[in-house]
Amino acid sequence: MRTVYLDHAATTPLDPRVLNAMMPFLTSSFGNANSIHAAGRAANVAVEEARETIARLIGAQPAEIIFTSGGTESDNAVIKGVIKATGKSHVVTSMVEHHAILHPLQYGRKDGIKTTFLDVKPLGMVTAEQVEAAITEETALVTLMHANNEIGSINPMRQISDVCRKKGVPLHSDTVQSAGKLPLHVDELGLDFLSISAHKIYGPKGVGLLYARAGAPWKPWMEGGSQERKRRGGTLNVPGIVGMAKALELAVADMEQTTAHIAALKKRMVAGLKDRFGDRVAFNGDLEHGIHNIVNFSFPLPDGEALDGEMLLLNLDIEGICCSNGSACSSGAIEPSHVLVALGRVTPTAKSSLRFSLGKDNTEEDVDYTLDKLDAIVRRMRP
Ligand SMILES: *Cc1c(COP(=O)(O)O)cnc(C)c1O
Repeated sequence: MRTVYLDHAATTPLDPRVLNAMMPFLTSSFGNANSIHAAGRAANVAVEEARETIARLIGAQPAEIIFTSGGTESDNAVIKGVIKATGKSHVVTSMVEHHAILHPLQYGRKDGIKTTFLDVKPLGMVTAEQVEAAITEETALVTLMHANNEIGSINPMRQISDVCRKKGVPLHSDTVQSAGKLPLHVDELGLDFLSISAHKIYGPKGVGLLYARAGAPWKPWMEGGSQERKRRGGTLNVPGIVGMAKALELAVADMEQTTAHIAALKKRMVAGLKDRFGDRVAFNGDLEHGIHNIVNFSFPLPDGEALDGEMLLLNLDIEGICCSNGSACSSGAIEPSHVLVALGRVTPTAKSSLRFSLGKDNTEEDVDYTLDKLDAIVRRMRP
């Protein structure tokens, strides 16, 4: 049976070139990067080379890169570390952030964290004006994602940064979905912090990074050994770090070509959906200006109900098509996606959403096969 993987926003396959780069550090070159002996020094050299590569690719200094276990840790580290450093307790964010941002803020309420969740209707973005209006004397941090993982909307980070600079408030962006897909330069976007995860860019799972601008208010939140200049304890994931640097390097080098390929597939997908379903399909998010790899849509019904997203997903899975309804973290739960609810979608529509997230290895045949199968499934499911 054919397998069509359309869930690249959840995770990506490991690029064979990344595996090759990692291989020595999974086998013969296994030293602890903090050991003094030759094996340790070899690992340390590889880690520092990776740090330099990544720093160069995002316009940072090597010392501003802190390796972590992934996007979730980096997001937690920013929130906890900036609040700790500033002594302030107010955070400005949006309703459509990843749970790695929303949950630390929500659970932090008991510790006195106050959060303003900016409204994103109708397309999933916030404006610099909204951010400016939300900042107070007590604001420790503004954190807004670059590209949304469910609907692909892109925030105007540069304008938001101008406001934050004017008000003297540090700005973090969760750039997990934009890294390797959109130009990501910390000075051009005006970011003080950003989070990247390797497994979303054809790298290994369980490794990521936090960029923390030199001088920005931040304190380590995870104590342990003196690794990462005492900013993040824990033995370094040497193969993971080497793989992440390779993955980002490849993504940036191939960006133009990959973007053109994937954008053409998205165009084909959207045209195909419109063609087959007409006004029975409702697109979620900014179809035109959103990121080039994500298409999110629902099937509302005339009576106010909608086709069940979970059923659509399971039926597509039977045909070998892997996609998602909302974020992977919330599937399994019957809750509608918090992102679609924030767009103002009513519950039945929010529950009927599907997300196709395309990747560099997808083909036109993948898109056409998916459209054919989806068409048949929807015909069966419609009352
Ligand atoms: C996947 C993802 C994360 C979490 O990254 P992990 O490395 O899986 O912890 C955070 N933010 C966004 C936007 C994501 O898509």
